[in-house]
Amino acid sequence: TPPQSKLIPQNSSTQQTEYIKKRIEADFTISRETLLRVTKQMLIEMKRGLQSDGQTLKMIPSFVTNLPTGTEVGSYLALDLGGSNFRVCEILLSSDGSRVRSRQKKFVISEDLKQGTAEKLFDFFAEAVGIFLKEVLGESTDEFNAEHKKLGFTFSFPVQQTALNKGNLMVWTKGFTVSGVVGKDVVGLLQEAFKRKNLKITATALVNDTVGTLVSHAYTDPQTNAGVILGTGTNAAYVELVKNIPKWTGGPVTSGKMVINTEWGAFDEEHTVIPFTKFDKKLDRASNNPGKQTFEKMISGLYLGEIARYAIVDLMKTGYIFKKESLSESLLSKPYGFETAYMSRIERDHSKDLSDINALLGDIFKIFNSSLEERSLVKRVCELVGLRAARLSAAGIAALVTKMNKLDGCTIAIDGSVFEHYPHFGNRMRDALFELLGISAENIDFAQARDGSGQGAALIAALAEN
Ligand code: BGC
Ligand code: MG
Repeated sequence: TPPQSKLIPQNSSTQQTEYIKKRIEADFTISRETLLRVTKQMLIEMKRGLQSDGQTLKMIPSFVTNLPTGTEVGSYLALDLGGSNFRVCEILLSSDGSRVRSRQKKFVISEDLKQGTAEKLFDFFAEAVGIFLKEVLGESTDEFNAEHKKLGFTFSFPVQQTALNKGNLMVWTKGFTVSGVVGKDVVGLLQEAFKRKNLKITATALVNDTVGTLVSHAYTDPQTNAGVILGTGTNAAYVELVKNIPKWTGGPVTSGKMVINTEWGAFDEEHTVIPFTKFDKKLDRASNNPGKQTFEKMISGLYLGEIARYAIVDLMKTGYIFKKESLSESLLSKPYGFETAYMSRIERDHSKDLSDINALLGDIFKIFNSSLEERSLVKRVCELVGLRAARLSAAGIAALVTKMNKLDGCTIAIDGSVFEHYPHFGNRMRDALFELLGISAENIDFAQARDGSGQGAALIAALAEN
């Protein structure tokens, strides 16, 4: 970082803009050397997590020991609690493997529910299932009970699994603080809520979304060895050999394999490798889980906009941009008011005068008079925050591939709003993977996965029958 005391050239606004850009670049840029260290450290932490409980990377055995063969059939119910929605799905797996049909209904989780009690949250789930059965399937509960026996529950938070259909929530992430769930078996809580609503349904599988993504992609592409979520939160799951999991006490596993939920979102909570900016610090301190999910807070969709917002507000407060505009009247002053989706929109503006950024600033943020240089600074902030996220994600994937010994080739199934909708995200990851792995990066296929949480949960419920 250039020293603060150095005089900012006052004569030319272009020069000043260049100077400020250099400063933000210095804040957010992660060099190749640092990125290599991130990968190396991630590998160390992965091994520690496999060794014993209580480590930074939880490396949770999922109890999924087989990948599907593509021959699974049947009708299943899947529930999916992700970051912002609760989905109820009916999944039909048909005999030729690649044909999957589904019907689903989405329910928005209100902020009240996210901060409420266990009973309220799980009653909401049970009610949603009841609505789905009636409205979408047009079935009475009794008919349903006869037809659909198996239910997979995708619960995308760190859960210490004690069986395929049992597990205790270790800690909330992604802004949830619901009381009465941490330390409890979430399938038990679900079953109790079903009972209160007279629903006779049994959950036969409890699944993390990363595990669901891996399993559902493997259904059609047997080369798939890992599932990654880059969405509201971030995480990865991969296939590990049981002999490499010293902490496993669950007895012999016929396949010799186990899908591991890494919970990599917690990586670097000790701040040993990734440069932590003052903006990251502010976000962390103001969050629901300070000190936790460090990696996730630099990568996932819930947080990217908020980091950019802190950086933009800082430029405003120091008088570098929007001098005549009112911060307090702008949505920019509101925590989480600058959504990651706006960053995507900003990064998509390739017009000469950045006219869409101008429109966005006016319409949404009440910043009516911006210069082209100010808009280009806002865009640069977004690019840097987005680029850092993509590079860190790639460093995680490089660690996975190295751990699995798959440098000669494998498919990584990736799902989530950031990977799917954030411009250039996949290409930036790919470039970073080349920096990290060299020519071997060519062997690694990033595949866009869709609805792993629904289909994956159904498949895991299906595998549970065998
Ligand atoms: C959770 C993971 C989940 C990821 C993606 C994280 O916050 O801890 O369990 O897989 O978000 O949804
Ligand atoms: Mg999801």
